[in-house]
Amino acid sequence: MATNNQEPLSFARLVALDEKRPIYPQTLVELAYEQLLSMLVTMKIAPGQHIGIEALARQLQISQTPIREALTLLEAQKLAYKTPNVGFRAADLLTRQEISALFALRLLIEPKAAAWAAENADETALRALAKLAEEMERVQNGDELAYAQFAEGDARLHDLVARASGNRFVAETIEGLHVHLHIFRFLYKTNAPAKAVEEHAAIIDALLARDPVAADEAMRAHLLASQERMDAAFQEQERLLAGDPPAQDDGRPARAGRGRRRR
Ligand SMILES: [Zn+2]
Repeated sequence: MATNNQEPLSFARLVALDEKRPIYPQTLVELAYEQLLSMLVTMKIAPGQHIGIEALARQLQISQTPIREALTLLEAQKLAYKTPNVGFRAADLLTRQEISALFALRLLIEPKAAAWAAENADETALRALAKLAEEMERVQNGDELAYAQFAEGDARLHDLVARASGNRFVAETIEGLHVHLHIFRFLYKTNAPAKAVEEHAAIIDALLARDPVAADEAMRAHLLASQERMDAAFQEQERLLAGDPPAQDDGRPARAGRGRRRR
């Protein structure tokens, strides 16, 4: 299952899941985990909301034990937390400061990991990267499923780079942040950014060319641009909360200048 990093996490599948029991064979803990994960990242369980184990057990037609086990896994991924005598609640969304701290850490590690990957990636990793590049080109702007497909490719690319670096501890650190899970939850229902697809292509080109300097630079540029997109999303959210008039008519979030003045 997703927690042991064997299989890449399928955001598209999470978005498409409904509360019916799926037909593929899996253990009850996996079933409960995937259903809960889906509800948490698509906000069917809102941030901070109490997670009723009894109701879930009835809904999924399973006992409470696998649901408790799944919640423990989700607690480790910081998507749920337990309060004594109250039970589990859905975690709050990352704050602006937390996102900023997360990107600061990513900027320390991921450009270097990309440089190492350009030097160390084996043929299997390079083939996987080339295939991923093709798939990501096909992701289009559009509905939430398109965004899920983009997020999935994004998570896969960053994990591939981390592993191809050849440094196990770097790979574990990057994967252990569950960055894409939290960012997906935050940006759910936004569009797949065409610009990010271009940035990813630049990273992959540098890796395929085995150019560590270009790989470092392309990763750094991509992370800085991602951080700017997150920031724009925060500003849009703040603007909505403040009840300001709508953003520009092309539907993009309000530009940087406005939000800065209000800080
Ligand atoms: Zn990315």
